[in-house]
Amino acid sequence: MISLQAQGDGPVSMVMAECNHHRDLRGIIRLADPSDRPQGRGVGELLGKGIMAITIEPERGERYQGVVPMDSDSLAHCLEHYFLQSEQLKTRLWFATGEKACTGLMLQALPTQKHADPDENREHWETLGTLASTVTPEELLDLPHADLLYRLFNEYQLRLFEPGKLRFKCSCSRERSANALFSLGRDEVELLLEEQGGKIDIDCQFCNQHYVFTAADVETLLGDQRLH
Ligand SMILES: [Zn+2]
Repeated sequence: MISLQAQGDGPVSMVMAECNHHRDLRGIIRLADPSDRPQGRGVGELLGKGIMAITIEPERGERYQGVVPMDSDSLAHCLEHYFLQSEQLKTRLWFATGEKACTGLMLQALPTQKHADPDENREHWETLGTLASTVTPEELLDLPHADLLYRLFNEYQLRLFEPGKLRFKCSCSRERSANALFSLGRDEVELLLEEQGGKIDIDCQFCNQHYVFTAADVETLLGDQRLH
């Protein structure tokens, strides 16, 4: 699972997106003032000053989090900063957004091989960066991948992998909501029941799925849980 979260002091107070290895995506955006419809563009105008965190949670192994300041108006620059700091891989990014889509181009140097000539590598990196920099938002949004790559890098031998499909899928479930309630403990849950008039409503903030727990559901859930 990889997630990107940014928090700032701008009209958009938080954005978060995550993707797992099945290519299931979900995301959320939170506004400082829920009635506001911010019109700005770029990280600076929308999120303001703050931090961006990228978290990688492998199925096995340790969770890794890299945090970078949002010191540029461009999401691409903030992420380039992350790659340089955390992965130590030279990375450049270009994004484009349209009415119905956003697309991106990422150029990344793989770890250097022992026998590689560093001068030659540097030269390739610079040339590829210069070529990629000529990409326009229209090309990013409208051109099929193969055409775009050909237009930018036709002097190089290229290998195009099969595209992978991404889909929106939320990982919430009634069971997870029940676990969250259970972890609150009996006192807290009984207080919630009272506040919400004899039932507890849980809305998933990612997909708006609605879970209702009645007093009887809560009793079954907490049945074995002793009073604190
Ligand atoms: Zn959900």
